[in-house]
Amino acid sequence: MYAFFANCIVKKRIAQNEDQVIPAEKWLVSFRKNGRSFVRQFMAEGYYEAYDTVLTYAENREVEVLWFKEKRNCDHHLNRNYPELESVCVYCHAIFNDKEPVPCYDETCKAVFCSKRCMQEHYTFRHKSK
Ligand SMILES: [Zn+2]
Ligand SMILES: [Zn+2]
Repeated sequence: MYAFFANCIVKKRIAQNEDQVIPAEKWLVSFRKNGRSFVRQFMAEGYYEAYDTVLTYAENREVEVLWFKEKRNCDHHLNRNYPELESVCVYCHAIFNDKEPVPCYDETCKAVFCSKRCMQEHYTFRHKSK
């Protein structure tokens, strides 16, 4: 695994010299923390930016990287929507990346929350008072 990463860093230097424009793509990454794995999505311009994003995140949050790849290359993930890498609770604005997000009761609402409590507060405030 470490030999693989070192190899990528060498390749990165070469890629930067080529001055090529790489379009931003949606990527998926799978992490593991405390024996539980979770998938997040993020935007990156090419493999090297994705690699940097994933490794920086993994280092800061002390999570293990299982895999990462372009979403369009993940057939069985294509139709699922994953939380963004930096998921922020709509209600309390806490960052909750290493937990599974709690979706809103309202199926038409795309908001996600750090906890059931935040979701219920939001639901009461936004959807019940109409
Ligand atoms: Zn919250
Ligand atoms: Zn809602």
